[in-house]
Amino acid sequence: MKKYDVCVIKGDGIGPEIIEEAIKVLDAVSHKFNFELNFDYRLMGGAAIDIMGVPLPDETLNAAKSSDAVLFGAIGGAKWDGLPRELRPESGLLKIRKELGAFANLRPAIIFDELINASTLKPEIIKGVDIMVVRELTGGIYFGQPRVKNEKDALNTMCYNVSEIERVAKVAFEAALLRNKKITLVDKANVLETSQLWREVVSELAGNYEGINLEFMYVDNAAMQLVRAPAQFDVILTENLFGDILSDEASMICGSIGLLPSASIGGKVGIYEPIHGSAPDIAGQGIANPIATILSAAMMLKYAFGENEAAEAIELAVRGVLRDGYRTKDIAQYDAKEICSTVEIGSIIADYAAKA
Ligand code: NAD
Repeated sequence: MKKYDVCVIKGDGIGPEIIEEAIKVLDAVSHKFNFELNFDYRLMGGAAIDIMGVPLPDETLNAAKSSDAVLFGAIGGAKWDGLPRELRPESGLLKIRKELGAFANLRPAIIFDELINASTLKPEIIKGVDIMVVRELTGGIYFGQPRVKNEKDALNTMCYNVSEIERVAKVAFEAALLRNKKITLVDKANVLETSQLWREVVSELAGNYEGINLEFMYVDNAAMQLVRAPAQFDVILTENLFGDILSDEASMICGSIGLLPSASIGGKVGIYEPIHGSAPDIAGQGIANPIATILSAAMMLKYAFGENEAAEAIELAVRGVLRDGYRTKDIAQYDAKEICSTVEIGSIIADYAAKA
């Protein structure tokens, strides 16, 4: 039997509640599809600060490095906001991503038919949207040197080399192979030399991936097309700054923050986490939506372990549960037949996944 070691970081706020439900669903599919998951629970964020004085203890980082994947809830809260930047919960998350070499951020933006009215866009525009944004995460203008700020001027540097582009583009091509085989490279090649290099490198790489349809789009047009006709996209590949903005735009047109998963991958070990934060305003009330975390667990099964059938069983279960009208409070206004607590909807999804 195949065995996988998962480093589980619950974090703060609703983190422990949503992770519990993801574990429940993972247990259900691991039994059904005959693999074993070992969960190693570790501290990060405010929970780690309270007990160990730092947001990312060495033992958590070492456990993450020696695991097969990290499943992460969320961190942060007002209690720790006054601390110096390097001691705040977010520093732990930035550090673990960097230490694990997570250079590619994958963010699916999916519209569930049952929740089509949750989008700010008209149903006929949003219907069928299923986009995967692949954002370069550790290069570009956020990291380029020199970076300077004086009283009268400031400088940031956008810099990419061939290998940085190649490695994230390969992730996008592999993702497209598992999907509808279309990649849109979003750039600003009419103005920026870095974008011209991206086009050259990605075009050359496309020769290795038969059957993939590669197209190019300027970032200003892409921002417009995402709200005009989002269903035209399959995989969007882009650099760090453009991806930061477009991935938020793509997820938000889908309506609810409690539904969308993400993966930060590239190094030996990837991090799988919901796109939302620790939601301190609803923590401990049993009303958090665990679906984003459950779908992040499905991404872990697919991208880290290649357990595609189990991942699909989870995705089908989530769709089935939404189709049958089960809703947490955040999405209760959209065709609900039964309003569920976090624990209830997690159990129902686990049941559906076991039968999928
Ligand atoms: P947030 O995403 O935590 O919450 C925004 C709103 O969405 C809140 O009203 C919240 O109740 C709601 N919400 C979020 N997730 C939900 C879910 N699963 N089910 C139902 N409702 C949900 O963002 P915020 O309020 O700006 O930040 C709160 C804390 O989270 C801050 O400390 C912030 O730094 C931290 N944060 C952490 C991460 C992370 O761990 N990756 C990401 C973003 C923010």
